Amino acid sequence: MLFSNITNINGTNKKKIVLLPHNNPDGDALGSSLALLFYFRKLKHNVDLISPTEYSESFQWLPGSENILVFSEKTQSLIKKKIVNSDYVFFIDFNNLSRINNPYIIDFLLYSKAKKILIDHHPFPFFFDFMFSDPTVAATSILVFRFISNMNNLDKIDKEIATCLYVGLMTDTGFFRFPSVTSETHFIAGKLIDKGIDINFIYDHLQEKYNENRLKLLSKALKKLKIIKKYRTAYTSIKASDVNFYSYKQGDTEGIITYGLSIKNIVFSVFFFEEKEKYPIKISFRSKGNFDVNMFARKHFGGGGHSNAAGGISEKSLSESIEYFLNIIPYYYKNLMFSI
Ligand code: 5GP
Ligand code: MN
Repeated sequence: MLFSNITNINGTNKKKIVLLPHNNPDGDALGSSLALLFYFRKLKHNVDLISPTEYSESFQWLPGSENILVFSEKTQSLIKKKIVNSDYVFFIDFNNLSRINNPYIIDFLLYSKAKKILIDHHPFPFFFDFMFSDPTVAATSILVFRFISNMNNLDKIDKEIATCLYVGLMTDTGFFRFPSVTSETHFIAGKLIDKGIDINFIYDHLQEKYNENRLKLLSKALKKLKIIKKYRTAYTSIKASDVNFYSYKQGDTEGIITYGLSIKNIVFSVFFFEEKEKYPIKISFRSKGNFDVNMFARKHFGGGGHSNAAGGISEKSLSESIEYFLNIIPYYYKNLMFSI
């Protein structure tokens, strides 16, 4: 297999490997990284999983999560040592350094002689030493499964690895409902189920362990939801004072954006989030059909993502960001009108 030829990573030679998901890692980034952590340990490599930021409470139950080294002032020098001395750094579930958004880690990467390996499903990857990239798949977890399969090591997938990969599949496909889902997605899900995972336990831990404040924050956003019928668009926002009032924790706004798309005829949903009382504003985009939010986010909000799910930022205030958005949207009238 090409990959093991290049790196000899499947061989007897023990390597120092760093797994690096994007900032605020989601279920796919963490699931893929943790699966690889377990897998490479089975191959007797020396592996570390470094998260550039904290991650949502809803993933803290994931098998192996106690091994995640979260970047902080305290862990900074250890992380520097790990990255600089590693043989391989795996970039997982992102392909652009802006998604690390941590100048220290970017600096450590520049000093590191490690081979940089990409495992990711976003379009337009930057150059890496080796790219395991396929923007057509629903989740990076699928590529991790293929990666292990290509090394003829599917027997090494145990219940823990399977649970992590299944979380990646579930979360990035919106529980197997997005158009990116194919027979391969279900084929892999089936293989993972055969490893003895507990689907009900996973669902319960992902979706039914929210704190009360998270639901109240959702209710706040839904009350503010605005519909622009003419442009088949729904948008809402959360401002910094809501964040404080509802004791926001990382991940609490996850899912708010999906409600806009559940309205008949709406094909574009946007969520503006003022996380701290400072700029930039984080903006999320979701679409249905052929309205490409990746392009939209790239062009207007310095972001990117997939054609139906993307994100970006705005340096303006919350109200100015919304105003800017409302000024742009008429230019997309035809794209929105004829989407699907
Ligand atoms: P979310 O709206 O959940 O933050 O992000 C949805 C998707 O958009 C992510 O999976 C990621 O691919 C992409 N994305 C979100 N924020 C950014 C960003 O600031 N820059 C880029 N390039 N992609 C983003
Ligand atoms: Mn992903």
